Amino acid sequence: MSHIFSSRSSDLNAASGRERSGDLQHGDKSGLRRSGEAVLPVDFDRMAILLDIDGTLLDIAPTPHEVHVSEELRRMLARLARRLDGALGLISGRSLADIDRIFEPLRLAAVGGHGAEIRPGPGADAYRMQLSPLDPALKLRFAEIALLDPGIILEDKDYSLAIHYRLAPQLGGAVIKSVAAICEKYSCDGLSILPGKSVIEIKPRGFDKGSGLKELMSFPPFAGRRPVFVGDDITDEAAFAMLPRFSGVGVSVGGIVPGASFNFDGPKDVRLWLYRLSDGPDGETG
Ligand SMILES: [Mg+2]
Repeated sequence: MSHIFSSRSSDLNAASGRERSGDLQHGDKSGLRRSGEAVLPVDFDRMAILLDIDGTLLDIAPTPHEVHVSEELRRMLARLARRLDGALGLISGRSLADIDRIFEPLRLAAVGGHGAEIRPGPGADAYRMQLSPLDPALKLRFAEIALLDPGIILEDKDYSLAIHYRLAPQLGGAVIKSVAAICEKYSCDGLSILPGKSVIEIKPRGFDKGSGLKELMSFPPFAGRRPVFVGDDITDEAAFAMLPRFSGVGVSVGGIVPGASFNFDGPKDVRLWLYRLSDGPDGETG
């Protein structure tokens, strides 16, 4: 076990928490599984917690705008951020503006737009990486895919585009074929096409959640801490891949993926873990 967590470390699975309504009402089993001999340790002074949002912290909603953040969850995140001296961050494909909208009035450190935007702290200035947005003409071609069916939803995130087909899962193949056809005709050199859970993300190369994580980790209070990153989808793999540089720990949701040492069954288990952490191993409230 790394010396970084040698003080005040405790077994994650032993971190106690009082039962609450909502996420904890079905018992206190966190759903976390160990991988190999390792046990995820906890040291609030030296760790940073970085969370993907959709499918990790929050249950995936039929459309991106319909995700729900309860008042209780907001309060817990605020409490956890205090315990970590601010070293709690969100790493998402959503824009910072969208992240703030869904967590309002809570603001956290965040990486938005798959690494295109970074805000090191709640009150810090956000800045954008110097990147070229998607070519508007090409964007328009991809946007036309949404005309295939009302169940296909286009999410324009400025620096990237997401084509969601959760409401029309039978059209997943057609969406993928349409994207491939556009790329064949107009060339997608310089773009990353990332299939996710009922979504295809299209973004320029040169930045991703891994580069975003690296940037965020260069700022206080993150710098010098050991990141624990929790993510569930293909776009999170870049963040998992960046973790060894910071002696970080990867935790996947819903399935074991490369770079993850631990796994949660679903977002509910992630929230349960966070609730426990926010109260502390000794049940102290912050
Ligand atoms: Mg996700």
